[in-house]
Amino acid sequence: QSTEDVDAPETLQPRPPVVTIMGHVDHGKTSLLDALRGTDVATGEAGGITQHIGAYQVTVKDGSKITFLDTPGHEAFSEMRARGANITDIVVLVVAADDGLRPQTIEAINHTKAAGVPMIVAINKIDKPEAKPQKVREELLQHEVIVEDMGGDVQDVEVSALKKTNLDALIEKIQLQAELLELRANPDRDAEGTVVEAKLDKGRGPVATILVGRGTLRVGDVFVVGAESGKVRALIDDKGRNVKEAGPSTPVEVLGISGVPGAGDPLTVVENEARAREVAAYRAGVIQQKRTTAAPA
Ligand code: GDP
Repeated sequence: QSTEDVDAPETLQPRPPVVTIMGHVDHGKTSLLDALRGTDVATGEAGGITQHIGAYQVTVKDGSKITFLDTPGHEAFSEMRARGANITDIVVLVVAADDGLRPQTIEAINHTKAAGVPMIVAINKIDKPEAKPQKVREELLQHEVIVEDMGGDVQDVEVSALKKTNLDALIEKIQLQAELLELRANPDRDAEGTVVEAKLDKGRGPVATILVGRGTLRVGDVFVVGAESGKVRALIDDKGRNVKEAGPSTPVEVLGISGVPGAGDPLTVVENEARAREVAAYRAGVIQQKRTTAAPA
């Protein structure tokens, strides 16, 4: 991003935080995501229909929004980081209270620290009789993650994804952390976003879930995404509804792409189709060149 491309401070408006849940396998990432999704007050209006698009937005009781990414395994997280598309504002580290820190927990801690992303620890499975939350805090300390109880500044919360215990407290901590980050973006400009996931859909053709970073993406917009280009034919939100536009921190499915882009690819709205093809061709060339240079001699 070049310096003249920075949005003027007066154009910036608050945007929802983008949260990634990480942790060791079986510690409850999926359960927690599902439980948090269940707290969405907007889902009722949509008739409770939800679909998997790799990211979703929850509207909490006070009307504010939180976006959760539900794809990144650790590999995807480090890949996105390597490509400069660090779209996560906050990491929620899930640690099962009956199991403690495990290799993937430590990996997640390292990734999060390397990315400079603030972390909130969710000590999960607190409903289990063998849960030892204090032991988790001590183990975290050994990895220099110092929770408030231990005199540090990392927020932690005991939850049960299964029994839906203390989810409100977790949401509050996410909101508190988000406030500290003062997350802002200019919604009144051509959109820029990042591919969260993409696939070739039998009926619909190439489909990509885009997390809008800044600006507002609209039906009819002409864009470049990775080495592909297109014109937005339809936008579908995480509740399966057709929408006309998507602003900062909003995940949407985009239809009308020439091919399937890669996860982490940037999407940029451009002025017209000729320009889109030109940029896409240039990017394809760069990608081709990178592949050639990267190939072993
Ligand atoms: P993931 O691999 O991190 O996504 O973990 P899952 O969400 O698939 O959970 C792994 C297992 O732990 C499943 O059998 C869940 O039902 C169980 N589980 C998840 N959260 C809790 C919890 O809070 N309490 C209990 N008792 N079990 C849980």
